[in-house]
This record gives sequence, C-alpha cells and structure tokens, in this order.
Amino acid sequence: GNNNLNAKLVLLGDMGAGKSSLVLRFVKGQFLEFQESTIGAAFFSQTLAVNDATVKFEIWDTAGQERYHSLAPMYYRGAAAAIIVYDITNTDSFVRAKKWVQELQKQGNPNMVMALAGNKADLEDKRKVTAEEARLYAEENGLFFTETSAKTAINVNDIFYEIAKRLSRA
Ligand code: GDP
Ligand code: MG
Repeated sequence: GNNNLNAKLVLLGDMGAGKSSLVLRFVKGQFLEFQESTIGAAFFSQTLAVNDATVKFEIWDTAGQERYHSLAPMYYRGAAAAIIVYDITNTDSFVRAKKWVQELQKQGNPNMVMALAGNKADLEDKRKVTAEEARLYAEENGLFFTETSAKTAINVNDIFYEIAKRLSRA
C-alpha cells in the first residue's frame, strides 16, 4: 500500500441525521446538543495513522437538504470515500440513505470506499430501524456498516479508522 495518502471523504445523508456531529466528534472530540444546521457544506481535515501508513482525510460535510441536492456531486465527485449517515430513530432517513448509496453507485468514483453509519445509537428506546435490516442492506451493497453515536462517541473513530485501513490497502 501507499504510506501517506490524502483522501477526500464526503458525508451524505438526511438533514438532522448527525453528519456534522460525527465530524465534530471525530475532529474535535466534542458533541453539541444543539448543533447548527450546515449551510451548503463545511470542510475539515484530520489525519489518522493506520499500521505503517497515515491517511489525511479532507472531509466535506454536506447540508443534506433537498434544495442543496444539486450541489452534492461537487462534493462526492473525486471522493475516495463516503460515509452515508442515517438516524436509527427515523425511517425516512434510512430510505434517504439508500437513495444516496444508489446515486453514488451510479455517479460516484467506482473505487469509492463507502460506509453506512446508523447514528444516534444511544437512543435505543426510540429505535425505528433495526441493525439487522441495515446490516443486510450494507452486505448486499458492499458497504462497511456500523451503528454510531456522536453523543457517546461509540464507533465514531472506528468508522474513520476502517475507511483509512481500506484506503491504505488499495
Ligand atoms: P446533520 O444535519 O446531519 O449535520 O445533523 P447534526 O449533526 O446537525 O445533528 C442534528 C441533531 O441531532 C443535533 O441536535 C445533534 O445534537 C443531534 N445528534 C447528532 N448525533 C447524535 C447522536 O449520536 N445522538 C443523539 N442523541 N443526538 C445526536
Ligand atoms: Mg450538518
């Protein structure tokens, strides 16, 4: 593999699913109960060491609203990796996540490493999407899948780490 790579990564998914919160948790180790909605897109960078390689992520956190949809290709075009985020307490957000996966499969870079994140895993009592259903979908579509919580930090670093591992192996 390659020892030092720069990897463009895009976060896609419904507004409110927790994209910005996942990035904030990963980049700054913080969580805000009242995270402001993203206008257009926001950029962050963070470097991870995996085995004997370093991966510098150039992260585009997109807005997610329908009215910004036409901008999305600017962010996923040329991206090496994507995290598609849904909210486990919101069925519509899972439906929308699957639409993003379809769009990436059609229009994205064919070698893109894709991960599906079922976020807000701390809200177990409000769960609407089972982990089993999502795992099955991810398997069928060749995506890495995990449930995350930006609030408790569970699996947040792991998803970026797994992507970095897959990129450094390529
Ligand atoms: P985005 O529109 O996808 O960027 O979503 P945000 O990151 O702005 O999050 C939307 C709302 O959900 C905010 O009020 C966050 O505090 C909340 N939120 C995000 N992630 C989590 C999580 O893992 N657990 C809980 N309980 N709330 C979360
Ligand atoms: Mg946001």
